Amino acid sequence: MITIKNLKKSFRTEEVETLALNNVNLNVAEGEFVAIMGPSGCGKSTLLNIIGMLDNPTEGSYNFAGNEVGGLKESQRTQLRKGNLGFVFQSFNLIDELTVYENVELPLIYLKMSKSERKEKVMKVLERMKIAHRSKHFPQQLSGGQQQRVAISRAVVTNPKLILADEPTGNLDSKNGIEVMNLLTELNQEGTTIVMVTHSDRDSHYAHRIVNLFDGQIVTESQNRAMGAVV
Ligand code: ATP
Ligand code: MG
Repeated sequence: MITIKNLKKSFRTEEVETLALNNVNLNVAEGEFVAIMGPSGCGKSTLLNIIGMLDNPTEGSYNFAGNEVGGLKESQRTQLRKGNLGFVFQSFNLIDELTVYENVELPLIYLKMSKSERKEKVMKVLERMKIAHRSKHFPQQLSGGQQQRVAISRAVVTNPKLILADEPTGNLDSKNGIEVMNLLTELNQEGTTIVMVTHSDRDSHYAHRIVNLFDGQIVTESQNRAMGAVV
């Protein structure tokens, strides 16, 4: 599903140039669950943002589901992102002014889905994530664990092929963290490919494979368990 070749990313701010990713090669198969680990500043989020087509590499190629992403126009890239990708972040990134229901409905509005179809999909996912009873609440009225369940609902309501999660348990206590990891594992077992950045050894055990980044390079990769194996 993902083929990344000789990828480099540098950021230039005033006189300083940072080489955030230095010759990264990475393949992720459909159905895989991959954890990206490594110290702060090693390039994990940069890599995830490029995979999510939120940022462009400086050099190298990125192929997503048969599409050479570098050759696409911005509008084509947006089209490819819609419906194919779901994002989950450490800080939840919910819109405070919108209710739980409205936050989860948003990606479906972008997909120009009808109101009745949106309602059916939103309520189904909120029920599954055990947060339907809070549909009329605003994010600030929820606990961290509940907010992350809303964020996961928003990420999966379009039934994406790939979920990108950047430290999804980073702001959660261990009980809520384990709950989030169990939800991601369930989604993976249903066929969703997952690429997750994490600092947590506990969370990395849920993945099939761990990719370790250091100073913008992949230094080691280790297999945790075979695809299809139960955690
Ligand atoms: P953390 O674990 O702290 O989240 P990370 O591994 O996700 O770290 P990145 O955010 O990918 O690290 O950053 C990699 C490097 O690129 C860092 O040196 C960072 O300062 C730099 N960097 C990231 N984004 C930008 C940017 N927009 N402009 C300039 N430098 C950036
Ligand atoms: Mg980061």
